[in-house]
Amino acid sequence: MKSFRCLSAMVFFFHMILIWGMLRYEVFAEMCILYSHYHWDHSGDPSTFPPSTALVVGPGFKDAFVPAYPTKPGCAIHESDYAGRELREIEFDGDLTIGGFKAFDYFGDGSFYLLDSPGHAIGHMCGLARTTSNPPTFIFLGGDCAHHGGEFRPSPTLPLPSVISPSPLPRLHPTVCPGSLFIPIHRLYEPSARATATDVPTSQPFFETSATGAHDVEQCQDSVRKMSAFDGRDDVLVIIAHDAHMLDVVTFFPHGTANAWKAEGWKEKGAWKFLGDFEEAVKEREEVGRG
Ligand SMILES: [Zn+2]
Repeated sequence: MKSFRCLSAMVFFFHMILIWGMLRYEVFAEMCILYSHYHWDHSGDPSTFPPSTALVVGPGFKDAFVPAYPTKPGCAIHESDYAGRELREIEFDGDLTIGGFKAFDYFGDGSFYLLDSPGHAIGHMCGLARTTSNPPTFIFLGGDCAHHGGEFRPSPTLPLPSVISPSPLPRLHPTVCPGSLFIPIHRLYEPSARATATDVPTSQPFFETSATGAHDVEQCQDSVRKMSAFDGRDDVLVIIAHDAHMLDVVTFFPHGTANAWKAEGWKEKGAWKFLGDFEEAVKEREEVGRG
């Protein structure tokens, strides 16, 4: 198994550009830029890399962006992004699927898979990186499948805990936090069901994927549902590109690797931190409750 260095965490977590070759220090000749998708906040400027660096993109990219700007005025992609370098589009035309996603075994050895995850943008791909082999653990690199933890948590496989630790509301609850605080602010909360815990939506995400910003919202919702199933597994850490709550949870290159995320409890520390964004809503609700 190829080592999964912490640079992968730094690069993949933000998905600005995915430079897989750099994770393998000894094989700089195989360097490539791997787009989760083409949006400007994830793509950087490939023209600053040498021509030997291939640009790897997801399905539909060439149809949409070849030619690009300036031949096609107003295009989001510049032709200089791929001029003079290999532009490789992953086709996902094999039989391999993982968790319902069409999958591509990038190195052919099970160390890193690309997953066809359409919806947010043309050619959007997630990554599934093996972090240990025995027992197997993985990091699911969600890109922009979702933009906030509340779009895929809680879920049937990762329900809202009754007691959340560490507390996502340290100002209100310094040590542990009752999960019940968040039930009255859930989109599916019905006050009449307050007395019966089984009626409250502790297993549905706080948000639905919005059509705003999605290339195809139904495809995006389907990709989120599949990603959510990974999120419920103990052996998979799901991280989306814009989850800033993980910044003080993960270890960044060169200070360590991401391989030990499970032993170091990254998932327990980070999965519910997004609930801290609801602090004002929780306080407002409590004030309303006090009358
Ligand atoms: Zn995006």
